[in-house]
Amino acid sequence: MTRQVFVIVGASLAGAKAAEELRAHGFGGQVLLIGAEPERPYERPPLTKDYLRGESGRAKAYVHPDGFYRQQEIELVTGVTVTSIEPGASRVRLYDGRTLGYDRLLLATGAEPRRLQIPGADLDGIHYLRTLADCDLLRARLDSGGRVVVVGAGWIGSEFAASARQRGLQVTVIDPQALPGERIFGREIATFYRDVHRQHGIELLLSEGVAAFEGNGTVTRVRTAAGRRIECDFAVVGIGVVPRTGLASDAGLEVSNGIVAGDELQTTAPRVFAAGDVANAWHPFYHQRIRVEHWANALHQGPAAAQAMLGQPVSYDRIPYFYSDQYDVGMEYSGYAPAWDEVVFRGDRADGEFIAFWLRNGRVAAGMNVNVWDVNEHVQALIRSRQPVQVAALTDPGVPLDKLAGQLAAGS
Ligand SMILES: Cc1cc2nc3c(=O)[nH]c(=O)nc-3n(C[C@H](O)[C@H](O)[C@H](O)COP(=O)(O)OP(=O)(O)OC[C@H]3O[C@@H](n4cnc5c(N)ncnc54)[C@H](O)[C@@H]3O)c2cc1C
Repeated sequence: MTRQVFVIVGASLAGAKAAEELRAHGFGGQVLLIGAEPERPYERPPLTKDYLRGESGRAKAYVHPDGFYRQQEIELVTGVTVTSIEPGASRVRLYDGRTLGYDRLLLATGAEPRRLQIPGADLDGIHYLRTLADCDLLRARLDSGGRVVVVGAGWIGSEFAASARQRGLQVTVIDPQALPGERIFGREIATFYRDVHRQHGIELLLSEGVAAFEGNGTVTRVRTAAGRRIECDFAVVGIGVVPRTGLASDAGLEVSNGIVAGDELQTTAPRVFAAGDVANAWHPFYHQRIRVEHWANALHQGPAAAQAMLGQPVSYDRIPYFYSDQYDVGMEYSGYAPAWDEVVFRGDRADGEFIAFWLRNGRVAAGMNVNVWDVNEHVQALIRSRQPVQVAALTDPGVPLDKLAGQLAAGS
């Protein structure tokens, strides 16, 4: 019998964890993990945090220790782009001209930064932050100090701004929204984060878009739509990411805000699966497709896809989760709440330690714990229960959250 070949495109968190899972389940066939970047798989969260600030080294960022892929007989191919996939012929084509046949294929191609298309966008000194290589450049810039303009107050922009401030740079953040994050998290949380940044000395220019970068070869000024000019030594753009769906769409797979997949993570092509930032997978708990651009989803969905590739029954239904660290403010957010009726709080925002709950029809749709730890599983249990909750109990720090979650789970 010939050995089966499982090919994974994208050697980052989702792809690497999928490869690990294949071996953990005793898969004895060939596992090829192919990545365009020159590095072995690494995690991206440190790139806006400790690694960026020079507080931790490269070794801590890698998904697996050196030697892991060799030991596990996972053929890690770095620095090679897959240029096309041919589901009809069950093969992929590589940049170097090679073609590889597969029995199962996993697309874990992730996402890439959305680019700003304005005058001056191609000047030197304008950075995006997605890869270790991007981060190494920025880490060196932080060493030199000076002034940076950050375009976009989303998570990447905010975390970068916080780290730059911690390294002593002068930081201006520009965002076209009056209160960044308000549409997603509501006024209270958006205000909380705005104030955290202001308290740490960030200059926030809100309700103001960026019209152009200016400079002679290298950016030295950012011009806003209102005509204001901000001097800078460099700029960082963080205006969101787009899923890397080109391989899938070129091959005729269904693509809609990511590669469309079922809850078993299979795409619309036979024996082709998708996981991580690129996958817009059916979520059985929410009865809709969801694409999650966060670390925990890549961490867990990669292995789930591997199980599905092995023919095991899979229904990926984890509650979406992400975390963020800015200055001394750490938070975890669980849930999915595109709409809500009210946001209620356990603990005082002024103290910087609280849990926010997004309620929809009297039930917890999402929760964010800020500088409060070891509650995440209870928050997720509250969400999963789908039970109406008494706001007085939810917001009373005297009522243990695990007890409340247990009561609701028992009633569901
Ligand atoms: C700076 C930064 C900080 C972050 N911080 C947090 C955080 O604090 N909390 C949180 O929850 N999430 C965070 N995230 C998000 C998290 O890192 C992502 O959700 C996660 O990396 C997604 O993993 P992935 O494997 O799906 O895709 P990616 O990490 O995007 O990796 C996809 C890989 O596929 C490769 N690839 C793409 N196309 C091809 C091809 N055709 N051929 C070969 N290789 C290909 C790419 O080069 C890339 O290496 C952060 C992201 C960034 C960029």
